[in-house]
Amino acid sequence: MSKRQRQVVYGLLIVAGFGGAAYSFLGRSSPAKVSDTLTIQGLCLSCKHEGAVQHPNTEPAPHKCPECGQQAVYPLMYCFDCRRRFVPELVRTDPAGPPRIPPSFRCPGCRSSNVIQFIPNQPELQPVGDLPPPRWN
Ligand SMILES: [Zn+2]
Ligand SMILES: [Zn+2]
Repeated sequence: MSKRQRQVVYGLLIVAGFGGAAYSFLGRSSPAKVSDTLTIQGLCLSCKHEGAVQHPNTEPAPHKCPECGQQAVYPLMYCFDCRRRFVPELVRTDPAGPPRIPPSFRCPGCRSSNVIQFIPNQPELQPVGDLPPPRWN
């Protein structure tokens, strides 16, 4: 091996070393990253389990239920006007897929559009009750 060739080989080894270090750095930091998942207060329309559900932020509702395993957890909403929690009326956009939350919706109880996604333990969000969940399947 000539001196020139040896320099090239060492150069490649150094680049590979840096690449490996950067890769392991990214690999280490990814579990701490929280921006790619969302936690919602959801209601399972299959088994009626309610609780916090974590899902990838690219995944639209419904999400997988930790209790019954069905893809049937929808986010709970809160109506500021009648102060009840609800799951919006669902729409079936894809005949083969599950029903989805429409892009805009009103409170099924009082028809108000003054609604927000429900967050537990918020002083501004004090529900007085729940509206019956929509039909599912
Ligand atoms: Zn369930
Ligand atoms: Zn309402």
